[in-house]
Amino acid sequence: ALHYQPLVDLETLEDVGAEALLRWRHPERGLLLPTAFVDIAEETGLILPLGRWVLEQAARDAAAWQDVAGGPFSVSANLSPSQLHDPDLVAIVVAILQDADLPPDSLIVEITENLLLKDAELARSRLAALRSVGVRVAVDDFGTGYSSFAYLDRYPVDILKIDRSFVGSLGGRPRAAVLVRSILDLAKAFDLETVAEGIESTDQLRTLRSLGCRFGQGFRFAVPRPAEQITSMLESDALAAMRDEPGSSPAATTAVAG
Ligand code: C2E
Ligand code: MG
Ligand code: MG
Repeated sequence: ALHYQPLVDLETLEDVGAEALLRWRHPERGLLLPTAFVDIAEETGLILPLGRWVLEQAARDAAAWQDVAGGPFSVSANLSPSQLHDPDLVAIVVAILQDADLPPDSLIVEITENLLLKDAELARSRLAALRSVGVRVAVDDFGTGYSSFAYLDRYPVDILKIDRSFVGSLGGRPRAAVLVRSILDLAKAFDLETVAEGIESTDQLRTLRSLGCRFGQGFRFAVPRPAEQITSMLESDALAAMRDEPGSSPAATTAVAG
């Protein structure tokens, strides 16, 4: 099953997208998290059909949500190493976008920093190909790998996702804010969008906002949930926007688009 965690504009608190997170509805053990099965799926090769299913499902859900929202709404999918190695990846993604009738820039693929570093050349050409068809690329768990600075200059990426370990220490050690600020400065210099992961408290939200981080995810806003709940969330967003701003004022339009 796929669960989705909303992606939030930290300034307006609008829902602007959602990240697809894989779950296994196990008959005896209940709902399993990716840590319980993704590595095995990777080793056995099962991750390829599974990853493809994630992309198909996410693209279909995103297209439906754009209808509800009446405007852009992005969906992010996590890519595994085997998927990035798969020579058919770009063709598969293009076909999925066409089938779902989803604009390519509404799909974000997430690659972990370590994956970028391990297969540098392959990663670069594959990501460039994905971007050439209009898909956006995010570096997940940014700041936890090595030589992050060196590759930023060379890699075709659009978004940095600041790892939740940095966000988690905000409000504690003053140095944590310095680290987050440095990542945000870096992102700005390279013209990259930023998403803070794992925002759990209002204090963290305030600090990230004051540091100029544009987007975020975390339990402070919503835990990952089934697709139907994202649909109802968007329906009530749209209703609230209509109530607040009758007619088609710019404020109503952006709220609905979010
Ligand atoms: P990720 O992509 O960095 O996803 C974020 C993880 O942080 C998710 O865990 C999410 O539930 C959790 N999270 C979100 N907000 C908070 C918060 O405020 N506090 C805390 N403590 N945690 C938060 P999840 O769903 O267990 O996923 C773990 C990892 O599994 C993901 O990390 C991703 O790397 C991988 N994964 C998930 N879905 C897929 C998939 O479809 N394919 C592949 N290859 N990997 C996946
Ligand atoms: Mg991710
Ligand atoms: Mg992450």
